[in-house]
Amino acid sequence: MSTKNKKVMVVGGGIAGLTAAWELSQFNIDVELIEKTPFLGGYAIQYCCKATDECRQCGACTVEAMLKNVVNEPKIKVHLATEVGKINNSGRFSVDLKKSSYKPDSAKEGVIRGSPLHVIVDKEICKKNPDVCPEDAVELDKIGFSGKLDVDAVILASGFQPFDAEQKGTYGYKKFPNVVTGMDLERIIRENATVVRPSDGKTVQKIAFIQCVGSRDENLGNLWCSQVCCPYALRMAERIKHKNTDAEITVFYMDIQNVGKDYAGFYEKCKKDFRFIRNIPVDVFPMENGSLSMRYMNEEDGLCINEEFDLLVLSVGITPGPDNSNMSDLFDVGLNEDGFFAGIDKLNSTSTIKDGIFLAGTVAGPKDIAASMAHAGQAASEVIKHLGVS
Ligand code: SF4
Repeated sequence: MSTKNKKVMVVGGGIAGLTAAWELSQFNIDVELIEKTPFLGGYAIQYCCKATDECRQCGACTVEAMLKNVVNEPKIKVHLATEVGKINNSGRFSVDLKKSSYKPDSAKEGVIRGSPLHVIVDKEICKKNPDVCPEDAVELDKIGFSGKLDVDAVILASGFQPFDAEQKGTYGYKKFPNVVTGMDLERIIRENATVVRPSDGKTVQKIAFIQCVGSRDENLGNLWCSQVCCPYALRMAERIKHKNTDAEITVFYMDIQNVGKDYAGFYEKCKKDFRFIRNIPVDVFPMENGSLSMRYMNEEDGLCINEEFDLLVLSVGITPGPDNSNMSDLFDVGLNEDGFFAGIDKLNSTSTIKDGIFLAGTVAGPKDIAASMAHAGQAASEVIKHLGVS
C-alpha cells in the first residue's frame, strides 16, 4: 500500500520516540513528534560518554546521532513544549494538542541545552540571570503548538521518571549537598569536566555508590529491577577511575544486574578496580568538613561500621512517567500493576488493546538505551504492518 498521506503521531521525544519517528520516516511515513518539554533527547541525552580507553557501550553517542537524524529529517515534524489534550478515534485519530505547562525550575534548567534545534530560554529566569542566556536564544513562551492533528496511528513513547531520591530520607538527598543522584553527577561532570564536591568544589577521592535506590524496595512497593542503574553506576565509576586513578570507589549493592554485551567481563574488571559491599547503608550523616559518615553492617562479622566518604552517589531507579495515568485515560489504554503501560499479549509487547496505538521504550517498563531503541524499532515495525505499508 502507498504511504501517501499516512501520518503517525509519536508522543515523547526521548530516545524511544526519536528512534520510532526516525524508523517510520525511513518508510516515507509523515511523523508528528510531540514533546512536552522544550528539548529533545529526554534523560538519555543528558548522559556523558563513559568511554575509558575503550568504548563502554553506554549509548550516549547513539542518542546524539539519532537526535541529529531526527531534526534533519523533513518527514518528521517536531512540536516542542506541546502536550496531548483530547483524542477522538473514528478510524483515524483526531488529537487536540496544546502548549505544555512546562516550566524550568532553575536558571540552569532555564537555558535548555542538548537540543540542536536552538537554545531555548525562560524569559523570567533570564531577567534575573542575564549572564546565562545567549542573545540569539528562543524564548520558551514563543514555542508550543495548539491545534488539532489527524493521524493514522499513535506511538506512546513518553518515557519514565527517575525515582525521587528525597523519598529515601535516611540518605539525606537535598539535605546534604554531597549526596547526589547519578543525573546530578552527570551535571557536575558537564560543568566542571571532573567530579567535584558540590559543597566546596574540591576534587573527590572517596566515592560511594548506593544501588537500588527506589527499586526492588518492598516498603515503597517498587519491586521491579530498573535494569539500568547497575551498568550506569559501574560505567560511571570506571570513567571516574580512568580520569583519577587515585579515586577510591565503593559500591553498596544487593545484587548486580548483569546486562549487555561483554558485561560479565566488564564486571570482573570492576571487581578489581572497586570495593563491592553487599549491604545497603542504613544511615548517612554530614560531617563538619563536608564529608559524609555512612553506617553499614560489616559483611563478615555483622558489626556496624562508620566510614567517611567525600561524595555519595545514589543510583536511583526508573519509575512510571508522571503523565501515565492521564495518558492512560486519554488513550484508553490500561497500565500494569506497577503503573507502566500494558502491552497486549506479552512482556515487552509494543501493541496495546487499542487498534492503532502502540508503545515504545520505558513507557512500558524499565529499559536501557539499547533496549529502548530496539523496542521503538519493534513499535515502528508494528505500525508499518498496521498501516499495511510494505
Ligand atoms: Fe538494583 Fe542494579 Fe537492578 Fe538498578 S539495575 S534496580 S541497581 S539490581
